[in-house]
Amino acid sequence: MSAAQELAVAIVGGGPAGLSLAAHLCRAKIETLVLERGRVAESWWHYPPTMRLLSPWWTNVLETRDAFQRSPFAIAAASVYREYLLAFAARHRLPVRERSDIVALQPHSGRWLLRSATGEAWSAACVVLATGYFSAPREPRPAFESDHSIPVRHAATVEDYDAFAAAHRGRTVVLVGKRVSAGQLMVELYRRGVRIVLSARRPIRFRRGDAIGRLRDQVYFFWEWLRVLAQPHLHADSFPVMDGGETERLLGSGRVPLVGPIRAIAAGHVHTVDGERFPADLILLATGYRPALSLLEGWLSLDPESGLPPMDGFGVRDCPGLYLLGFDNLYNFRSRYLRGLRADAARLARELKRRLR
Ligand SMILES: Cc1cc2nc3c(=O)[nH]c(=O)nc-3n(C[C@H](O)[C@H](O)[C@H](O)COP(=O)(O)OP(=O)(O)OC[C@H]3O[C@@H](n4cnc5c(N)ncnc54)[C@H](O)[C@@H]3O)c2cc1C
Repeated sequence: MSAAQELAVAIVGGGPAGLSLAAHLCRAKIETLVLERGRVAESWWHYPPTMRLLSPWWTNVLETRDAFQRSPFAIAAASVYREYLLAFAARHRLPVRERSDIVALQPHSGRWLLRSATGEAWSAACVVLATGYFSAPREPRPAFESDHSIPVRHAATVEDYDAFAAAHRGRTVVLVGKRVSAGQLMVELYRRGVRIVLSARRPIRFRRGDAIGRLRDQVYFFWEWLRVLAQPHLHADSFPVMDGGETERLLGSGRVPLVGPIRAIAAGHVHTVDGERFPADLILLATGYRPALSLLEGWLSLDPESGLPPMDGFGVRDCPGLYLLGFDNLYNFRSRYLRGLRADAARLARELKRRLR
């Protein structure tokens, strides 16, 4: 292992949360390094270019002055947002060390030691885990019984949608899930010629996809903003429902059949809790994600529901100098969303400045 490089703040994760915080710290001339296991904005390289964000542009930018880079009310494609993140990192000359998969984190003499998979080491006064949700799939519980005659994989493992579709064209893929990511995946794979069956508990709720729905979405973000002004620390569950429009049409027309939850897999057939039985080639789980906090597993107890350790604001309780950013309800119900994490990054930067002074 190489000698540890000394830092004031090490940020693990080069997504929107890590980049946003790094920009604040660099502006304050605090010695910071972002350690990213892949490329800058790694999560955003894995979505098809056509996949879209859920909220309007003005709510997603990391700095207010970027709100007019495009139409503030536009719903951008994920690839456009990825380009924005790359440009943001370049504009602020953010110190990002790519291909640094952090595999170990431990306290050492009042500081934190981090080690990468390739043996590089860093010693930091403060560490911020901004590792997001997208590398840690949430499997359904209780899992169905299976004789393993049909393979099961999580949607998080599908990196190239075109290659996936080419390998599964004309085959039956049972997609499990009822939230926004299941709906988006359903549309993307259907468009690419994969035969999809959706397995979900009924009823499925849809966001209105028409002009009224789009207007309502825009108004919602102003209303949410007022709500946050009135109750800055409001905590709440957030489960974005499926987009309306094409998703609803595919299910309504039966082009994507809807079946109940899977009870068992046996002899190449899916058995649902409603008594249906049909052959399938793959079960694809779009059942959501958990916080990617494997660095804390084994030495901190993580809440089975939220996947988070006990917290005091952004700080991990009883772990001075260790912080989280970009996870559910850290400051309020927006903390895992782009519009929340950019505000949280500013708050956490102030806290770190005070601590390091
Ligand atoms: C298609 C799509 C549309 C979305 N639309 C919206 C929207 O409209 N509005 C909204 O608010 N949110 C939206 N989201 C959610 C959005 O992705 C998240 O809000 C945002 O990406 C979270 O940023 P993050 O930095 O916390 O996590 P991520 O972007 O996932 O970044 C985490 C980074 O940490 C890295 N990492 C993880 N573990 C390690 C490790 N051990 N060592 C080193 N690096 C590590 C990962 O490689 C990754 O780059 C959308 C998500 C998707 C996929």
